[in-house]
Amino acid sequence: PFTYHRARDLAGAAGLLAELAAAGGEPKVVAGGQSLVAMMNFRLARPGHLVDISRLDGLRGLRTDAEGALHIGALTTHHEVETAPDALLGPGFTVLRTAMRWVGHLPIRTRGTVGGSMAHADATAEWCLLAVLLDAVLVAHGPAGERRIGARDFFLGYYTTALEEDEVLTEVVFPSPAPYAALTEFAQRHGDFATVAAAVDVDLAADGRTVCGGRVALGGVAALPVRVPEAEAVLAQGGRAGPALYKAVAAAAALAIDPPGDASGSAEYRRGLTRTLVARACEEAVSQ
Ligand code: FAD
Repeated sequence: PFTYHRARDLAGAAGLLAELAAAGGEPKVVAGGQSLVAMMNFRLARPGHLVDISRLDGLRGLRTDAEGALHIGALTTHHEVETAPDALLGPGFTVLRTAMRWVGHLPIRTRGTVGGSMAHADATAEWCLLAVLLDAVLVAHGPAGERRIGARDFFLGYYTTALEEDEVLTEVVFPSPAPYAALTEFAQRHGDFATVAAAVDVDLAADGRTVCGGRVALGGVAALPVRVPEAEAVLAQGGRAGPALYKAVAAAAALAIDPPGDASGSAEYRRGLTRTLVARACEEAVSQ
């Protein structure tokens, strides 16, 4: 049993969460319900109160600001990003749109939200990986006001974030365009969470053929999405874009990680996937 509350505005939601949390009511925000309700069905989550924020329309939508940063409201669905027009996403944030094809299935993408994915913090979730890759800033609203948290401080471990019980995630800000970025992954069946997911953001010189830096992030190799400085160092050394360089970046990534083994794959299998997927992501990133 739980008590259901429908929030009418953001201040009301944060106030109610604070009140319920202080009384030991174990409240949970519900947005798209695509992870939380499943967890409740399995009795892995047993909240005393659900605070439904799904009608807070101010938390929905995408916009770019004068500095070129992309702001995505927490209630924006995966499908809204997947179908966002070029005027909003292209060419700097196309990776966000192309990555959505890896998130579950269409019915899940039409209800699941960007903020819900970040707050749920699955170690292989595409949004969490993109946030870490592109140094996104997560904006939370609580009784004390607004808090801005860098992605690398937001994810703390398996299903664990820096969000407080009485905070609502309101938006995610991707600060700079990433025209040469790509995300790819492997899952046993399409639509499943990835066994390993790899994302890269390559810096290309003006000639369009010389790599001069970049970022590499992996999901499914640790309790949270991680950046791989050893692989980024290879990109920073630079060189001609092509398979030899991509292979070197991928080899450095595979060597640097200490992945877990479980029913989806052993540690060695994940290391092999990393080697393949990082090279593939580099190829996809540069070829666009
Ligand atoms: P909810 O389920 O409503 O909430 C999830 C958690 O986030 C809860 O703890 C809730 O309290 C908290 N929360 C939600 N919104 C906020 C907010 N604004 N502020 C504070 N806390 C908040 N996801 C992937 O990334 N990749 C996949 O491949 C994938 N495959 C899936 C396959 C299946 C079969 C299913 C059912 C789901 C899959 N998902 C996948 C999960 C899906 O993407 C969810 O949409 C997402 O994880 C959670 O978003 P939601 O809006 O549904 O959140």
